Amino acid sequence: MKNKAAFLDRDGTIVEDQKYKNDHNKIIILKDAIKGLLILKKLKFKLIIVTNQSGIAKKIVTRNKVNTFNTKLRKILKKHKIIISKIYVCPHSVDECCECRKPKGKFASLAKKKFNLNLKNSIVIGDKITDKLFGKKYNIKGYLLNKKTSIYDITKRIEKKKS
Ligand SMILES: [Mg+2]
Ligand SMILES: [Zn+2]
Repeated sequence: MKNKAAFLDRDGTIVEDQKYKNDHNKIIILKDAIKGLLILKKLKFKLIIVTNQSGIAKKIVTRNKVNTFNTKLRKILKKHKIIISKIYVCPHSVDECCECRKPKGKFASLAKKKFNLNLKNSIVIGDKITDKLFGKKYNIKGYLLNKKTSIYDITKRIEKKKS
C-alpha cells in the first residue's frame, strides 16, 4: 500500500518566522504545533517539511546555517516523538525561476518517488497561498493557516472527518 504525506511549511507554520535569520538558538515552536503534528502522526501521515529559503540566494544566511537550524528543529520535535521524514529546502531566489520554490511542486514529485506516496491522499499545510498552491498540480489538498488557527485546529478537523 502507498504512503501518504503531510507536506508542511516551516516558517510561520511550525516555528515562528525569523525572516531569513535561521538562528537555531532562537527556535520558537508555534502554539499547539506539537499537538497538531502528533495528530498527523497518529493518522499515519509521513511528515515532510518543504521550505523556501531565498535568504541563501540573497546571501543573508548560509546553507549551513539553515541546515543547523533544521537539525536542531528535528531534535526538538524528536523529544516529542515526532519524526520528520525529510526536509526539502529551496535555496533559490524568485528571479532564478527554479522548479523547487513553492508554489512549484518539484519537491512533491521527488517525495512521491522517495516515499512511495499516494499524493491524492496527501495534504499540504502552510501559512501562505504559495504553500497551498504547491500541491495543486498533483491534487494534494491544501490547508491554509491564518492568524487565529494552528496546525492543531486543522488536524482536529481532518481527524474528525476520518472518524
Ligand atoms: Mg511560511
Ligand atoms: Zn529552488
